Amino acid sequence: MSSCPCGSGRPFEECCGPILAGGPAPTAEAMMRSRYTAFVRQDLDHVERSHAPEIRDDFNRGEAERVAEESEWQRLDILRASEEGDAGTVEFLIHFRRDGNDMRHHERARFRREDGQWLYVSGEVNPKGEPRRVVKVGRNEPCPCGSGRKYKACCGK
Ligand SMILES: [Zn+2]
Ligand SMILES: [Zn+2]
Repeated sequence: MSSCPCGSGRPFEECCGPILAGGPAPTAEAMMRSRYTAFVRQDLDHVERSHAPEIRDDFNRGEAERVAEESEWQRLDILRASEEGDAGTVEFLIHFRRDGNDMRHHERARFRREDGQWLYVSGEVNPKGEPRRVVKVGRNEPCPCGSGRKYKACCGK
């Protein structure tokens, strides 16, 4: 069994696999992880299905497929995740390569649970206002994202 692309350290078959197959995600974070995994595996059905109904028309399937195909996905960092009833917020960082460049996508995404399924409602890219860490992190200290790498080699780049 291969470990899940989302970085959970668990086998794909026990992590994002069942969610990509249409099963419910236990948490908003698990849904976010499975959406990332869907991009890695170029399985955009799941991404499309996990959009809230009011934003489904805005989803550009062709563009998403192109991004999935042209990117070299490296890692997903969950920076923070919280839930309150049927509302969830997940702030994350995706590390990927595109056209030979190291890129990062930082987003704070909002989810809503409907009929037991977490749905992606909206996302704020490069969120401001609420700094993700107010403490100063030394360049050689472990990254607060939990990647296990030094800050300077990870989010502090
Ligand atoms: Zn996973
Ligand atoms: Zn980091």
